[in-house]
Amino acid sequence: MLIVMEHGATQDQVNRVVRTIEELGYQARPMPGAQRTAVGLVGNDGRVDSSRLSALPGVKEIIHVTQPYKQVSREWKQETTRVTLPGGLVIGGDEVVVIAGPCSVESEVQLITAARQVRAAGASILRGGAFKPRTSPYAFQGLGLKGLELLAKAREETGLLIVTEAMDIEGVDAVAEHADIIQIGARNMQNFSLLKHAGRVGKPVLLKRGMAATITELLLSAEYLLAEGNHQVILCERGIRGFDPATRNVLDLTAIPVVQSLSHLPIIADPSHGTGRRDKVIPMARAAVASGADGIMVEVHPEPDRALSDGDQSLYPHQFTELMRQVEMIAEAIGRKIAQPLMTPIRQK
Ligand code: PEP
Ligand code: MN
Repeated sequence: MLIVMEHGATQDQVNRVVRTIEELGYQARPMPGAQRTAVGLVGNDGRVDSSRLSALPGVKEIIHVTQPYKQVSREWKQETTRVTLPGGLVIGGDEVVVIAGPCSVESEVQLITAARQVRAAGASILRGGAFKPRTSPYAFQGLGLKGLELLAKAREETGLLIVTEAMDIEGVDAVAEHADIIQIGARNMQNFSLLKHAGRVGKPVLLKRGMAATITELLLSAEYLLAEGNHQVILCERGIRGFDPATRNVLDLTAIPVVQSLSHLPIIADPSHGTGRRDKVIPMARAAVASGADGIMVEVHPEPDRALSDGDQSLYPHQFTELMRQVEMIAEAIGRKIAQPLMTPIRQK
């Protein structure tokens, strides 16, 4: 439930709404906005007596959020959320952010080479898995903590920010310590205890859509993060399971405008996992930017033929340079720009 205040409502009137919500036994989330000030009532179990709130001075109207997800919805918050990263890079603003790098962190040479290559082509965030969710237990599982240290080193050397996946609760803490964004992968989208933990660590979270998840399920998973107090959430469309082996997944680009109408959270697209095939990545990256995605995430490897995971969908560095050239034109055509990488590396503890 959302209590919308009148245009000229005073701070005292807002405080009184907050106090009343707390007296009723719920949590209050005041939200000063550009267009309106509202106070969200969190934890509504259907027994809230809204007449106690609508009668308070300064209250304009009560909005009952109709969606099953609440804080994630556009009914709850009208302005698109801007996730602000170290150095001021924003996901969810006018600029389209490009995240690129190998599927897995494999070695120092591989990662630093990849980081320099994607940085030179204009990416602003480096991706690379240290903890890898692999279908087979015999496949390369990632370098673990060593991989996180290499990612931190790559950030120091290139100025790229870092996103990497956490697969379990201990992993969330380790990733939060080293990276700028915690990735929750498709396979863990509905790992609710993991989501609750990630909601408490105070770092932005990139939440990937499960491979058989509806958009409502994706948004309800995001709600777990917001319900724990983490509002710095970026969604990611990465393809859903289809019936046609022509591609690894079906990249559902309709999810971009659908999510944008239902939710204020920024959403990016991953054309690499979305297609599984290198030669399909550039066209779908173009389409993702054209669809209005706030960013793209692309796998790039210095030597894809030697990659320990997802080589078939990893771009050669020169292809990534070409991708950047093309998506810059698409961004411009829809009145956006590609975000520039930070000029100087951010030194972290
Ligand atoms: C990844 O981005 O490294 C990954 C494993 O993707 P997904 O969770 O979408 O399969
Ligand atoms: Mn991958």
